[in-house]
Amino acid sequence: MKPHPATKIIHHDYVAPEGFSAFPAAVHKASTVVFDNVAAMRNGCWNDKSGYTYGLHGTPTSFILEARLAAIEEGQFCLLAPSGLAAIAIVSLGLLKSGDDVLIADNVYSPNRELGQWLARDFGISARYYPPLIGDGIRDLIQDNTKLIWAETPGSVSMEVPDIPALCRAAHERGVLLALDNTWSAGIAFKSFAHGADISMQALTKYQSGGSDVLMGALITRDKEVHHRLELARMRLGMGVGMDDVYLVLRSLPSLSLRFAAHDAHARKIANWLNSRPEISRVLHPAFPDCPGHAIWERDFTGAGGLFSVLFAPHFSEAQVDQFIDNLELFKIGYSWGGANSLCLPYRMNEIRSDWQEQGQLVRFNIGLEDVADLIADIEQSLLRMQA
Ligand SMILES: *Cc1c(COP(=O)(O)O)cnc(C)c1O
Repeated sequence: MKPHPATKIIHHDYVAPEGFSAFPAAVHKASTVVFDNVAAMRNGCWNDKSGYTYGLHGTPTSFILEARLAAIEEGQFCLLAPSGLAAIAIVSLGLLKSGDDVLIADNVYSPNRELGQWLARDFGISARYYPPLIGDGIRDLIQDNTKLIWAETPGSVSMEVPDIPALCRAAHERGVLLALDNTWSAGIAFKSFAHGADISMQALTKYQSGGSDVLMGALITRDKEVHHRLELARMRLGMGVGMDDVYLVLRSLPSLSLRFAAHDAHARKIANWLNSRPEISRVLHPAFPDCPGHAIWERDFTGAGGLFSVLFAPHFSEAQVDQFIDNLELFKIGYSWGGANSLCLPYRMNEIRSDWQEQGQLVRFNIGLEDVADLIADIEQSLLRMQA
């Protein structure tokens, strides 16, 4: 058979020589995965990582990222999801069924709370919210049908640092799993498994990507059975990741700990400066004594992220604080964080927290990688303009 050019541009003769070697992982893209023969196709198992069946479940590119992410916290297994929130949804949908109960910390990422409300309203799952600093007291809330506890350390807006080991001890006494949103520490400053958590969820969208250009999440576990339940949920929900995005995270990963240390150092300098300002009544940064759960941060963490909040003195109105944010030049207004750009956002805490007691407007800063003195000068000029 002499193929037509239209066939030859699909079935070419060229075979790249063996022996190519370079540092970057190859970007293997696939929907279809090709089997050697029918027997291999029939024997292929979708979740066997020693083989490949379909692009949705991963290619060598995503398997490499999963292995590298699992290593950060000395986990055993890792699953990628198309966003941090997708990873959260895989946990709740994979581990809960109707009739079950889930306990969700009041300080979790708001869409996680919202997911709980949806499960309660439409799926016959009871979702109850607990004060993040409850510690051992969680014992009194665990029911026979409680299957999962969600925690976040620190809460990424209000910044309380929960006692994860105490929550895990109470959960494990009753056979309950604890899933931790460990995005703030990027798995670097807080080790989920060493402190007892069963699942470490991380939004790779933040520090692991570092580029403000990717949405992705990871679920890391040490327990094969838990991993398998999550894997089933991800497969049933059809959640896959794009390999170009995986490549971007792989490209950023070698500098993760350096970037994280820089975000930490910059943020502490700026938080320290804010702490001395009369306009600011409280700095909610886990490394500062005013932050609820600071002693637990000191006990359990080896560093801090670049994200923290402040409370303005109560006499500043919402309009004035909004003006402060509008007048910032280097700090931009936007969600998400963990990239090179500094960001600033106001939160109406009474709308997201029924138990919020603090006075004064809450403003959250994501400290990027710009020069610290320039960032401080920007905040200072805007504080002065706010009062002019
Ligand atoms: C951003 C974020 C998420 C969600 O990640 P996405 O990739 O944006 O869906 C979850 N938890 C925390 C703490 C986050 O900051």
